[in-house]
Amino acid sequence: MTDLVDSATTPSGWETVIGLEVHCELRTQTKLFCGCRNAFGDPPNTNVCPVCLGLPGSLPVINELAVEFAMRIGLALHCRVEPSIFHRKNYFYPDMPKDYQVSQYDQPINVNGWLDLPTGRRIGIERAHMEEDTGKTTHVGGGGRIHDAGYSLVDYNRAGVPLVEIVSRPDLRSAAEARYYVDELRAILVATGASDGKMEEGSLRVDANVSVRPASSSTYGTRCEIKNMNSIRSLGRAVDYEVARQIALLEAGGRVVQETRHWNEVEGTTRSMRSKEEAFDYRYFPEPDLVPLAPSASWVTAVASALPPLPADRRARVAGASGLPVCSDAVATVVRLDLDSFVMAAIDVGADGALAVRRLANEVAAFDGAGRLDPDGFCRLLLMESRSELTTAQARDVLRHMLVSGGDPAAIASSLGFAALSSGALGSAIDEVIALYPGEWERFVAGEDKLQGFFIGKVKAATGGNADLKAVPALLRARRGSASLSP
Ligand code: ADP
Ligand code: MG
Ligand code: ZN
Repeated sequence: MTDLVDSATTPSGWETVIGLEVHCELRTQTKLFCGCRNAFGDPPNTNVCPVCLGLPGSLPVINELAVEFAMRIGLALHCRVEPSIFHRKNYFYPDMPKDYQVSQYDQPINVNGWLDLPTGRRIGIERAHMEEDTGKTTHVGGGGRIHDAGYSLVDYNRAGVPLVEIVSRPDLRSAAEARYYVDELRAILVATGASDGKMEEGSLRVDANVSVRPASSSTYGTRCEIKNMNSIRSLGRAVDYEVARQIALLEAGGRVVQETRHWNEVEGTTRSMRSKEEAFDYRYFPEPDLVPLAPSASWVTAVASALPPLPADRRARVAGASGLPVCSDAVATVVRLDLDSFVMAAIDVGADGALAVRRLANEVAAFDGAGRLDPDGFCRLLLMESRSELTTAQARDVLRHMLVSGGDPAAIASSLGFAALSSGALGSAIDEVIALYPGEWERFVAGEDKLQGFFIGKVKAATGGNADLKAVPALLRARRGSASLSP
């Protein structure tokens, strides 16, 4: 079993430092400040009203469920939920009809949390604040870039969709770790029910702040912020590229300029987009049309106690029950594929928990989920394997059949021609062999241990290769023990 280790890709002498800003769309029925539908993929500009179009005189009313979802996210990330207020973040862009975004600035709803990676590393969460999404611009012609486009189309369906932005501390140390973080965060967001976690639909969008520093340094280097990664894989590629670019720059005697860079998926490069904007560029001021948000203590408690078990808790439970280390790859895989209940069921019937985890993390994971496997049948199979009624290879075969077509393991085993060798059947095979070779048996009983191999070979021949031979030594020793006791 391999444990989760980062493939540290940073050249020696340097350390990578990454902080991620993840935008997550909330799964509410309606938008953050109006009653328009919050849905992906509807015809353009069909889910709009005076509020989300920013028409004069319209007033926002906050969506209670969006606040609850934001709290769920904060609490799942071990943040403190605080009284918060909204600000206007002013900038001009055609997909933002009001020319400002309602966001949270210096008094966000969730602060100071953390998230545990499956590797066991704890990553700090600075804040998880609420804001509204912008609309979506499509540049037509010129390869989709604004500069060469013939014209641009704007869809305001997404304008005003509730978002939570989760800002990590600069605690991540490699591209691999950044990928683990997004994977884990997505699993948490989905578990809370606050998000569908779909990166391909833009429900989850990741910006990466990347810097490098000499490995011995205790201060951070200058960072660049990378945007436009559409998958966890491109996040990893973009970070690796950016780290190499910054190290090459520094080693050549140059310096990193703080800026926003755009990831180009096709070229596999980042390119400068704009110099880093400062808070004062946005002319933040408190949103006068909304009252401060101060969830009551009882609301916060109710939300916290209704949270489902989160991935890290589930990993701890599976590890504890099976005796495997909590940071083992297999345990993480079982939880990621939602197979915990199979492990628990196996342990309940007295099967080997670690064996259950291994079968799930290998055979079942390779199948990409439980398919038609049910916990009952899985438990019966594990018991057959541990009673040596099936060899390991046979058990794997039977399991693959169960995944595809379901069914009872014993029936599948016999249909595959695996002679069910119960320990009883194995025992009688051993007794027959002993009876056939009394001289060898006497010498074995007298202590000539090397004859064990001889007997295993004979048992293998007698059972036509269908026995699970790993049980044979124990059975031989048991017979030797009782033989040497009798006169
Ligand atoms: P800003 O106000 O410019 O958005 P923040 O201080 O809020 O900057 O940080 C934004 C993100 O950048 C956070 O995720 C943080 O962890 C990360 N970050 C800050 N400094 C560095 C650095 N030197 N290297 C890498 N990431 C950093
Ligand atoms: Mg920021
Ligand atoms: Zn609206």
